[in-house]
Amino acid sequence: MEFERDRELIEKILALKKNKNATILVHNYQRPEIYEIADLIGDSLDLSQRAAAVKSDMIVFCGVHFMAETAKILNPDRKVIMPEITAGCEMADMISAEALRSRKDEVGDPLVVAYVNTTAAVKAESYVCCTSANSVKVVNSLPKDQKILFVPDKNLAWYVARETKREIIPWQGFCYVHALYFNAEDVKKAREQYPLAKIIVHPECLPEVIEAADYVASTSGMVKLAREFDEVVLGTEAYMCNRIKKDYPGKKCYPLKRTAICHNMKKTTLDKVLRVLATEENEITVPEAIAQKARQAVKRMLNII
Ligand code: 13P
Ligand code: SF4
Repeated sequence: MEFERDRELIEKILALKKNKNATILVHNYQRPEIYEIADLIGDSLDLSQRAAAVKSDMIVFCGVHFMAETAKILNPDRKVIMPEITAGCEMADMISAEALRSRKDEVGDPLVVAYVNTTAAVKAESYVCCTSANSVKVVNSLPKDQKILFVPDKNLAWYVARETKREIIPWQGFCYVHALYFNAEDVKKAREQYPLAKIIVHPECLPEVIEAADYVASTSGMVKLAREFDEVVLGTEAYMCNRIKKDYPGKKCYPLKRTAICHNMKKTTLDKVLRVLATEENEITVPEAIAQKARQAVKRMLNII
């Protein structure tokens, strides 16, 4: 019954999407029924690259606020709307532009690398952005004699420092889903339970989890890696296994913890997408003075790839 209702909603959304000349961008952590209406399902990097290239009138962003904001920064002439405007990111809320400005003064003119999980105002205070897919590449591209202040994820900062062998000053932010739900003991238990599986974790996990895993990857990196193995355990948001099974229906995929859910990513529903497409409410706006500076940091990242 629920399935039938979803089908009806999906058909209505696809018709209205065409009618309104809209593009629907969907993050990998969204509910599986949202995948069915997507023009692209991807990680933060895939989605920002695609957002920059969108030619249709409107972008409906099914993800969290910083992702929709990044789409608006990169493609300011399109209307960007979100099905649920309160879908934020707790990590992005762990740093403000004001706090970053005073830390920059304390450190003494560092190059600020901002994880894309930040507000436009924080990006505007930063030299370059990065995502989990390109953080190592971005930091490797920076001049060796400069101090690097990496914000806001301390765990991603640790991973990038390990990979690049650069000294990095971290901000003290973290993602509750990745940093509070998994530890090294969970990885050990998963190995015992699934001895044939490869364990792939997101770089937002704790250092002890990253060290215990087989691979570290962004969410789309996980999809690519999963193709190579019969069985995988994913140290990331639990819905990610739905994403793997969409591309590889026969794959054995287990979440490291079934309870590791990003509640903001789950706020988007088919009903809300249909409503927002009809009303065009929940529009994302970024003041031009901030957008201009933030655009420089995001574009600098996109040019590194
Ligand atoms: P990805 O860019 O790897 O999809 O990560 C986004 C995110 O918010 C992970 O928690
Ligand atoms: Fe933010 Fe964590 Fe949710 Fe990703 S999983 S959107 S980092 S709170």
